[in-house]
Amino acid sequence: MSRNGHAPEGHAHCVLLHYNEIGLKGKNRPLFVNRLVERIEQMAAPHGGEKVRKLPGRLALELAPEADWPALRVALARVFGVAYFALARKLPLDLDAAGEVALEMIAPLKISTFRVRTRKGYPNLPISSQEWNRAIGARIQARRHLPVNLDAPGTMITIEALPRNTLVYVEKIPGPGGLPIGASGKVTALLSGGIDSPVACWRMMKRGCEVSFVHFHGAPYLSRASAEKAMDLAAVLDTYQLGSRLYLVPFGNLQKEIVLVADPALRVVLYRRFMARICERIAKLEKAKALVTGESLGQVASQTLSNLASVEEAVALPILRPLIGMDKEEIIAQAKVLDTFEISIEPDQDCCSLFVPKHPAIRTNIPHLRGAEARLDAEEMIARALAETEVYDYRDGARQKALPFSEIHPGTLAKTPAES
Ligand code: ATP
Ligand code: MG
Repeated sequence: MSRNGHAPEGHAHCVLLHYNEIGLKGKNRPLFVNRLVERIEQMAAPHGGEKVRKLPGRLALELAPEADWPALRVALARVFGVAYFALARKLPLDLDAAGEVALEMIAPLKISTFRVRTRKGYPNLPISSQEWNRAIGARIQARRHLPVNLDAPGTMITIEALPRNTLVYVEKIPGPGGLPIGASGKVTALLSGGIDSPVACWRMMKRGCEVSFVHFHGAPYLSRASAEKAMDLAAVLDTYQLGSRLYLVPFGNLQKEIVLVADPALRVVLYRRFMARICERIAKLEKAKALVTGESLGQVASQTLSNLASVEEAVALPILRPLIGMDKEEIIAQAKVLDTFEISIEPDQDCCSLFVPKHPAIRTNIPHLRGAEARLDAEEMIARALAETEVYDYRDGARQKALPFSEIHPGTLAKTPAES
């Protein structure tokens, strides 16, 4: 253990992690706990985290001697499913030793009032929590002359008694809550370069979804600036799930074909129907069970109830919109916390703005949209876009260009550009 005043060299430490048990019943519980264990081990491994042990209602992460606590702390604060965690000193189950370690741990701290709380990890342990609280509290009062406050202590000293060990900690660090990624399955998100969709992705991750990302860019008619932003946003989002895939779909030619046949007022909704269809193809290959967007009701013309329904009609998979009831200000505040805001506000040109009239329709009806689409070869347009799709994988915090789409998902393209 290095570089931290609370974690001096030469002592055994572990990290104790708590999760919220509310709603965890029956078969969900082992699924949740196993996922959480895997996620903690994965996120902690680069910083000296080792195995996670399951204790009743909580988890203990073992640490290598060279573990880097400041880095671990940042990583663990991003593991969804963790309610709170604490760096604990680990010692044998012994009252005197626990009292001495508690004194050592509070030595560098400024304390107004304190309370000792002893919890038995297993009900049949042959010790009395009351007796430990009193004895350790008295020892601290005698040596440090600090006042006890049972109702609202300035510092809580927690002792967790286990069959072979005692764990002592003073600082409780909040986790992000939610469900461990993977516990709810997979979803595929439409990730623009904007403010909203990264927040939507994060919200789905927090509810236990592993998220793959699909970005549409206006090449060859617009620059790739939006694609660059999507790559940077995916990198930030990847710090929560470690292991992500981003699909970059060139959308300009498809948009041009729509422009040639459709009423200008319908263009945006038609673009969105094609985005949803392409994203659905990718979702099926990714074994994802739903699509995700950053839409919020009434934010822009394409996000009226009527237009949301028109886009929904184009696909069979559910479209999840975790921001549907949020105001822009609330979304921006969240984006700032996530560190995606600064990337999102860099200038770019979103492909949705390509060839779009000043006043797009706020109401669309399915027969009109279908009428326009009947003049297009949708299958061919989708196949072409997918054939030119670039794929990037994020592994161990680095981005790598993956094989071309057709090689990752062989046999999925109806026609390739060369054949058509
Ligand atoms: P955002 O900040 O997410 O871009 P926005 O306010 O700009 O949102 P729209 O441009 O109408 O709203 O986009 C609504 C949603 O459609 C986005 O949140 C995203 O899920 C999806 N979307 C829009 N443009 C793209 C794109 N170029 N690539 C992928 N998804 C997109
Ligand atoms: Mg946008």
